[in-house]
Amino acid sequence: MARYTGAVCRICRREGQKLFLKGTKCYSEKCAFNKRSYAPGQHGQNRKKMSEYGMQLREKQKVRKTYGILEGQFEHYFEMAVAKKDGITGENFLQILESRFDSVVYRAGFATSRAEARQLTRHGHFTINGKKVNIPSYLVKPGDVIAITDKSKSSEKIKAVLDTTEGKLVPAWLDVNRDALTATVTRLSERSEIDLDIKEHLIVEFYSK
Ligand code: SF4
Repeated sequence: MARYTGAVCRICRREGQKLFLKGTKCYSEKCAFNKRSYAPGQHGQNRKKMSEYGMQLREKQKVRKTYGILEGQFEHYFEMAVAKKDGITGENFLQILESRFDSVVYRAGFATSRAEARQLTRHGHFTINGKKVNIPSYLVKPGDVIAITDKSKSSEKIKAVLDTTEGKLVPAWLDVNRDALTATVTRLSERSEIDLDIKEHLIVEFYSK
C-alpha cells in the first residue's frame, strides 16, 4: 500500500481528534480540526455508531497515521511487541513506535512533525553515535546519541526548525543538548510518557482476531 499523500488534515477529521501531523499549523488557528471537527465528506456530520470491529480498525489506522507508517511495517512492529518476553503487548508496541529514529528526532525538537522528521532523516541531516544514518525506521536503543551533522547546523532549514521548536517539552527519556544539538536516549519511553490519546488494547484486539 502506498504512503498517504492526500490532504493530511482530513486524517484528523476522519479519526475525530487532532493528530498533530502538520507541525506549527496544528497549534495555530489555521488547524482544520479546530474549524470542522467532524469527519470529511457529505455524511461526515451524521456518522452512525461504530461496531466493535470498526472501533478497533479506526484506532489502528489512527496510530498508524500518527506515526506515518505503512501497513506491513506496522504489523511487523506489532509482531515484535508480541514476541517480547517482558511487558504488556500494547505498551511494548507503542514503545517500539516511539523508538523509531524519525519519531525520536521529532520528540527531541529537531523537526516540527514526524513527517518532517522523516524527510530530514532521509536527507542525511543526522548521525547516530557519530555515523550518518538516513533510515527513518531505524530503532534507537538506550545510550544512542543522535546529533545534527556539522554541515546541517548551518542549514537554513534546520535553523528555522530549531527556532520553531525552541521551548518545546522533551520527554524525560531523552537528554537534549540544544547547544551541541544532540539528543541522548537515556532509556526507552514508558507508556505514561506518550502524550497521545491512544487505546492500544483496541489495536491488540484488532490483530488478535
Ligand atoms: Fe490535524 Fe494538524 Fe491539520 Fe489540525 S493542522 S487538522 S492537528 S494535521
